[in-house]
Amino acid sequence: MKKFDQLADRTIHLQPEGAYAVLAKANELENSEKRIIHLEIGQPDFQTFENISRAGSDAIMRGETRYTPSAGIPALKKEIAKYTGNRLNMKFSSEEVVVGPGAKPLLFFPMMALLEPGDEAIYPDPGFPSYRSIIETMGAKPVPIPLRESKNFSFDLEELEEKVNPNTRLLIINSPSNPTGGVIPENDLKKLADLAEKFDFWVLSDEIYTRLVYSGEPVASICQIPGMKKRTIIMDGFSKTYAMTGWRLGYGIMPEKLADKVGLLMTHSVGCTASFTQIAGIEALSGPQEQVEDVKATFKKRRDIIVDGLNAIPGITCLRPDGAFYVFPNIKSFGRSSEKIAELLLSEAGVALLPGTSFGENGEGYLRLCYATSIDEIEEALSKIKNTIIKLN
Ligand code: PMP
Repeated sequence: MKKFDQLADRTIHLQPEGAYAVLAKANELENSEKRIIHLEIGQPDFQTFENISRAGSDAIMRGETRYTPSAGIPALKKEIAKYTGNRLNMKFSSEEVVVGPGAKPLLFFPMMALLEPGDEAIYPDPGFPSYRSIIETMGAKPVPIPLRESKNFSFDLEELEEKVNPNTRLLIINSPSNPTGGVIPENDLKKLADLAEKFDFWVLSDEIYTRLVYSGEPVASICQIPGMKKRTIIMDGFSKTYAMTGWRLGYGIMPEKLADKVGLLMTHSVGCTASFTQIAGIEALSGPQEQVEDVKATFKKRRDIIVDGLNAIPGITCLRPDGAFYVFPNIKSFGRSSEKIAELLLSEAGVALLPGTSFGENGEGYLRLCYATSIDEIEEALSKIKNTIIKLN
């Protein structure tokens, strides 16, 4: 018998996200008058584009402030199906789309609908911390697969193949990736798709950074590979591309049978996503896209400055990632844990960043820096990191 204050087993493994813990420490230092440069939280530093904000506030003023269908306003679902269809050169219907308050619910609810105790779910390590937490919450077994720096932070496919077995129910992929910025090459996607077919598992493809790529080449989705649409859930959202982190708006595209259940999970949890947020989302997708291109150009410039600056620091090496707004420098030469180095850089240099281990065991030996901040701050951070870390050699 459970004691009154003993919580359900599914809560045992829940951990906070590293970024929030470091942010809290950094804020404490700021309160004691220390100057802190924030490179820890992953969100754009610019405002939501004006046309989008106006669409949202106009909707409030018009009184569009009531419940909407749980899986999203039909006009938004239609726009999402059209937008993603154009992006991937495929066809999607509104019935395959589920809208939620942020992208995270489109990780949580599809996994709730698919995973049971005894199932195994493969996810990238280092990877977005919610993957593991959600797998564990559903009572399934988390199976981390390393992303290798030597493979531009794509999967170690041999290791992945060894871990796949008849209990494998789901594979989570994230390209471009948080925390590495790496993009999974199309050839690797084909091999993953072959495994998915052979072992009959689902793929949850987190495509939230897909518009933020700098090579000019669009990122391929595993969903485009023939035969994969029926076993793929695309998770995407508005937070990063349109600087809408606080609006809470995301979506999933998945086979209708699964979409129906995910919609019902929305009904019985959040009810629906804020009406005016969804109306702002219609404007984001159907309005002018030039600002996204401007932001991309700004991010690319910052990426080059931070990558060149990190590589100029003796002992640090840093790949030039093609996507997202993160870099994941290698700091193994200093012979200290990532956690220790991140702590030192916060307390001595006043630079808040994350140890690679916030994203799983295989993040040891790396740091994650978010470069969604001004070039002045990036340059100041680089110089402070250099002056502090150099003393460790
Ligand atoms: N996936 C990845 C890889 C992310 O980095 C994030 C946000 N940090 C999310 C999903 C969740 O996005 P949202 O804030 O829209 O829920």
